[in-house]
Amino acid sequence: MIEEYLRLKTELEPRGVNILAVSKTHSPEKIMQLYNLGQRDFGENRVQEMVEKRTILPHDIRWHQIGHLQKNKVKYIAPWVSLIHSVDDLDLLTVINREGEKCNRVISILLQIKIAEEDTKYGLLIGEALNIFQVKKPSDFKFIKFEGVMGMASFTEDISQLEGEYKTLIKVFHQFKREYFAHDDDFRIISGGMSGDYKIAIESGCNMVRLGSIIFGQRNSP
Ligand SMILES: *Cc1c(COP(=O)(O)O)cnc(C)c1O
Repeated sequence: MIEEYLRLKTELEPRGVNILAVSKTHSPEKIMQLYNLGQRDFGENRVQEMVEKRTILPHDIRWHQIGHLQKNKVKYIAPWVSLIHSVDDLDLLTVINREGEKCNRVISILLQIKIAEEDTKYGLLIGEALNIFQVKKPSDFKFIKFEGVMGMASFTEDISQLEGEYKTLIKVFHQFKREYFAHDDDFRIISGGMSGDYKIAIESGCNMVRLGSIIFGQRNSP
């Protein structure tokens, strides 16, 4: 685990790519091993698991919500979550804004774009995404900081398909940037790539990769 992590760091840091260590299902002890090497960004997909780990781990860990987020669970993470990658509809955005207001905290989010062909993956359809600010503008969400986009590619080994999907994500990012965030330096993150396809994601232009099994080994449960 440690060698793999250090190798990835050496490979990715000089390229300006941030590593999110996806620690879902893995023990606090394993998280601490990476923490001791300087890793601070960890991703979880279940709110309860993230809450439990946070209570026993150092408080300077930056916790990222990467899995589908139910609206009624936002309140549990709103006071401290570092970045929510999985904002996939306008109602969720509204709930996050309200919970941010309640704890007087601006919450950072990514808009999750559906780039995969499979219909099992969450995310805003591309047309839907680009229309999301037709009624309300980004500045109407006073307690949300829009930091970029996130995408999950298809589960496939077809390299050209993966490239196509990540290119779509990059394109959507630039469209948003141009139309709504041209003067907003915070809108800068393109979260794409997992253990199996991170190289393709980076070649395509993603600047944050979410790495689980390549660092921690196989998960016992999904
Ligand atoms: C689990 C998960 C990952 C990491 O997957 P690996 O293939 O283990 O690297 C990345 N992104 C999301 C949204 C996940 O749920």
